[in-house]
Amino acid sequence: MDHTESCLFCRIARGEIPSYKVYEDNLAIAFLDISPASRGHTLVLPKEHCRDFTSCPKDLLDHCFEVAQTIAQAQIAQLGATGVNVLTNVGPSAGQSVFHFHIHVIPSYREKVLDLTTKPLAIADKEMLLLQDEIKKAI
Ligand code: AMP
Ligand code: ZN
Repeated sequence: MDHTESCLFCRIARGEIPSYKVYEDNLAIAFLDISPASRGHTLVLPKEHCRDFTSCPKDLLDHCFEVAQTIAQAQIAQLGATGVNVLTNVGPSAGQSVFHFHIHVIPSYREKVLDLTTKPLAIADKEMLLLQDEIKKAI
C-alpha cells in the first residue's frame, strides 16, 4: 500500500479527516494543532508527503516557511500574541510523532516562555473555531 494512504497528515490534506483549517493553497495547508501548546498553535505542511525537514524538497520547504511567516503575523495581529515559536521536529528522539513534515507555529502570550514538556491545553471546539476564524481573518 502507498504509505501516503494511511498517513494522517496526507489524509487531512486530502480532506478525508477534518481539521481546523486556517489556510490552504495548491502546495500547502495549515490547521490548528489538536493538542495545542498555546491558543492558536498551528501546523503548516506541504500537501505532498515527505517524512521530515531533512527530506523535504527545497522549493516546498521555502513555500512552507513563507506560509508559516504569514501564520505568525496573523497570530500577532489577530490573537494578540506577543511572540511566536517556529519549530520542526526531526525524528523520534527530537519528539517527532507524525512522520509527514510539518512546521509548528506556536504563539506565545506575554512573558510566558514555551515549555514543550508541559501538558497540552484542553481547548473546547467552540474556542478552536473562534481561533480558526481569527487567524483566517488576517491571511
Ligand atoms: P510532532 O510531535 O512534531 O510530530 O507534531 C505532531 C503534532 O500533530 C502534535 O503536536 C499533535 O498534537 C498534532 N496532531 C496529531 N493529530 C492531529 C490532528 N488530527 N489534527 C491536528 N493536529 C494533530
Ligand atoms: Zn503524509
